[in-house]
Amino acid sequence: MRAKVACAVILCSLLVIGQLHVSATEQQLPLYRRVIAIDPGHGGPDPGATRGDLKEKDIVLDLGFGLRDLLQSTGAITYLTRDSDTDLADQNQTVTGGRKRRDILRRVELVNEWQPDAVLSLHVNAIGSSRWRGAQVFYPPDDPKAEELAKSIQKALTKVLRNTNRVAKVGDYRILNDAKCPAVLVEVGFISNPEEAALLTEASYRQKIVWAIYLGLQEWLATEKE
Ligand SMILES: [Zn+2]
Repeated sequence: MRAKVACAVILCSLLVIGQLHVSATEQQLPLYRRVIAIDPGHGGPDPGATRGDLKEKDIVLDLGFGLRDLLQSTGAITYLTRDSDTDLADQNQTVTGGRKRRDILRRVELVNEWQPDAVLSLHVNAIGSSRWRGAQVFYPPDDPKAEELAKSIQKALTKVLRNTNRVAKVGDYRILNDAKCPAVLVEVGFISNPEEAALLTEASYRQKIVWAIYLGLQEWLATEKE
């Protein structure tokens, strides 16, 4: 009996030590308890850029889910502006203007309510010519923190995807300009480029994009803490 009690005590101690060890390790992770807002663009009646059946709104929602799962697994607190095939216009009846305007303003309102450490707005690029390809990250003007984040994610995308020499650039987007925290917009690739469009349908390529955005974000948070 005594032996059993002793065993139980040892087991409990090991469990407690184990837990302490896990939480100490977790706290060293740059993303631990950091709040990240993920904004998959478009949705519902707004498909974004399209190529046949391939729609920007579906690609970025899937990337958003992937990013959410990965970030949560490393201890981050995440928010998604949408988690289904819908836009946010109907949540914003009081605002005047078209559907697109109501949608965007609701996204801005949400991220400013959440006060995250960073906002990642996800989009797919399209252009008249099929020539252009490559992921590119945009940041608002006069925001050094967002600029650093954009550069960090761009660097990781370039390294992981190995198909672009694009650089992070200032972009004039409402979600970036009106967010009260560092916000970047990631154009993950060009749907107008046949090869890149094909890659964007592949789960393994989407995983690479998610991984790169995660790496860039993690790097930015790690250097910011020092
Ligand atoms: Zn878009």
